[in-house]
Amino acid sequence: MPKTEVVKAETTVWIDGSFGEGGGQILRSSLSLSLVTGKPFRIENIRANRQKPGLLRQHLTAVQAAAEIGSAEVEGAALGSNALTFVPGKVRSGEFRFAIGTAGSGTLVLQTILPALITADGPSRIEIEGGTHNPAAPPFDFLQRSFVPLIERMGPKVKLELQRYGFYPAGGGRIVVEVTPTDVLKPIELEKRGEITSKKATALVANLPYHIARRELETVGKLLNWDAESLRCEDTKNSVSPGNLVMIELASSSVTEIFTAFGKLGVSAEDVAKDAAEQARAYMHSIAAVDEHLADQLLLPLALAGGGSFSAVNLNMHAKTNMEVIRQFLPVQFGMFEAEGHNRVTVQLQ
Ligand code: ATP
Repeated sequence: MPKTEVVKAETTVWIDGSFGEGGGQILRSSLSLSLVTGKPFRIENIRANRQKPGLLRQHLTAVQAAAEIGSAEVEGAALGSNALTFVPGKVRSGEFRFAIGTAGSGTLVLQTILPALITADGPSRIEIEGGTHNPAAPPFDFLQRSFVPLIERMGPKVKLELQRYGFYPAGGGRIVVEVTPTDVLKPIELEKRGEITSKKATALVANLPYHIARRELETVGKLLNWDAESLRCEDTKNSVSPGNLVMIELASSSVTEIFTAFGKLGVSAEDVAKDAAEQARAYMHSIAAVDEHLADQLLLPLALAGGGSFSAVNLNMHAKTNMEVIRQFLPVQFGMFEAEGHNRVTVQLQ
């Protein structure tokens, strides 16, 4: 490990990529935290619990993006690599362009560098090409209307534009992001959700027959007992490949949540719609503000803000793994309490 020559051993954070969830989030959170804290890290067993362990294109692009923004020295940044050393320098703001080259998730690459950019010295403009709506990643809409509004409540401004859709397996989507940073990230508190003030289901078809979207919306309408004014079809050709998804968006005074299900070959439009409707229904039955994805994604920004709290429908392995990674970089304490059938999470700098 020649890089350790430039890293003081006592300041290097050592991460085992196989613990807990053992997926890509351990790497991405480590990159984000390293950029913001200035602490170098070494990760081994990258994505050891996944079918194809090591760095895939999405993870490699996240590493390269973090390295460019953080003027970092990196060792092990290659496709398939199982170990990586990352030594950050000074975080830069400005114009950046990152192309994943596959349908790997562009939103996950953006989430990796966003913490550094929202606390940087100046504004940035970032263009990311790749997947914009991927299973097992935040869809662009989720980032724009669910995650980013919460980040903006902490102080920075983040403007997101979807220029082209990118679906698996072709990718080719494009997201443009403008970031105005803040000097101080403010903690936020998301207590009980409160009443749902608006609801909308969107069925999106890209280069696919319209009847798929119509059947999905009919199913959502029936299952949730919603009338036509809450059901919307988006029929786009602005994608290099076919794509289909159902998004159910529920807003309350404190938060907007978006539940997504993806169409795929061999799964009926009705079953895709049912999947999204069931996720939304479970959330509506709870009084918690955030569902499982926002829960794992809010931990890192709150830790950087030095505190905050939220109520969550449930806390999965992703969230608990993320807490462990954050604790390795920051002296932060997470509290988890069960109350009235949901979880309350508190974040406190020690
Ligand atoms: P891998 O483990 O194969 O590397 P990955 O790189 O996609 O997978 P994960 O560790 O699985 O990374 O993390 C995926 C992230 O995407 C998590 O933060 C999760 O909350 C988020 N996510 C997944 N599905 C959704 C969804 N439908 N809406 C919002 N966020 C999502």
